[in-house]
Amino acid sequence: MLRLLRYGMMGLWWFGLVLAVQAQEVRQEIRFPDLPGYRTLVCDFHMHTVFSDGSVWPPIRAKEAWRQGVHVIAITDHIEYQPHKDDLPTKHNRPYELLTGESASRDILLIRGAEITRDTPPGHFNALFLKDAAALDQPDLMEVFRRAIEQGAFLFWNHPGWQGPEKGKWGDVQTALYEKKWLHGIEICNGESYYEEAHGWALEKNLTMVGNTDIHEPDLKKQNTAADHRTCTLVFAKEKTLPAVEEALRAGRTLVWYKDQLIGREEWLRPMFDASVEVLPPHLRVKNAVFVHIRNRSEVNIQLERTGGSGPAKLVLPAGTVSLVKIGAADPTKPIQLEYTAVNFLVAPKKALTVTLTIPGKE
Ligand SMILES: [Zn+2]
Ligand SMILES: [Zn+2]
Repeated sequence: MLRLLRYGMMGLWWFGLVLAVQAQEVRQEIRFPDLPGYRTLVCDFHMHTVFSDGSVWPPIRAKEAWRQGVHVIAITDHIEYQPHKDDLPTKHNRPYELLTGESASRDILLIRGAEITRDTPPGHFNALFLKDAAALDQPDLMEVFRRAIEQGAFLFWNHPGWQGPEKGKWGDVQTALYEKKWLHGIEICNGESYYEEAHGWALEKNLTMVGNTDIHEPDLKKQNTAADHRTCTLVFAKEKTLPAVEEALRAGRTLVWYKDQLIGREEWLRPMFDASVEVLPPHLRVKNAVFVHIRNRSEVNIQLERTGGSGPAKLVLPAGTVSLVKIGAADPTKPIQLEYTAVNFLVAPKKALTVTLTIPGKE
């Protein structure tokens, strides 16, 4: 009997081991190149769980993020809006605590955050890198901000064009926060929305640009493509650690991947373009033309419109591919400069990045 029990236990142990070994999961990565001196991290700084008005249990957010190739997430349930509180008591730190194990096992950096949620004006704000989210649960709004900042929070204004007659206006609270240097960033994109005015304020007031999902429902996506992906922030960090992510956010080293566009400061868009697009030396030079391969290492279908005298009028470099391009050249042995506008690399509202592709001459 004892022996049977022992074999039974052994059997269970082996069964467990086999399960662990077989528990392999496979994901697709989000491929944006690193920039010189920085690692490109895919980040989503705005998401909800059942602990506010979301509809998933916290660890699911880490599984979704891993499956989609996201490196960094912030859990930011609403402080003031607790629609499930009759079923689930208000516990502002609990979603973070419940996510730590799942995030660690998947090598996802997890940020403790909260969404400060007031009617517009002033609207909603995310506080990241909190130590105690529950400390923000109190009525006086400026006191809430003070407590967040006291904990070392990075604060950004969420979905600035959202809801109410005063929506999309830079109000007194924003001014007060800005003057105290308590406002560090702004969501220029949230889910399916792009806020052009917010993009302008980010440039004018030197606020860090972020773009996030603000996801409430389960995320059924398995893979991100140029046509269908999370709205997210690319952060250029010195390494993959939370202090490095925070440093990069405070320094404004971000781009936003929104629909089939990259949006951000030229300072970061240009190196991203340069790291993404590689023009290979011509493999064939004929009378009046050269043949070149152009690689696109990014997830964006890069759209180019000619502004100079050489090259096709329009070029689309599909994400993650190599294009074969024939370029007319009076003298195919000479270097050729192709002047273009990268129309889906936005450096300011309605303003795209200008680029030059250089085709080397014959040695
Ligand atoms: Zn919100
Ligand atoms: Zn939200």
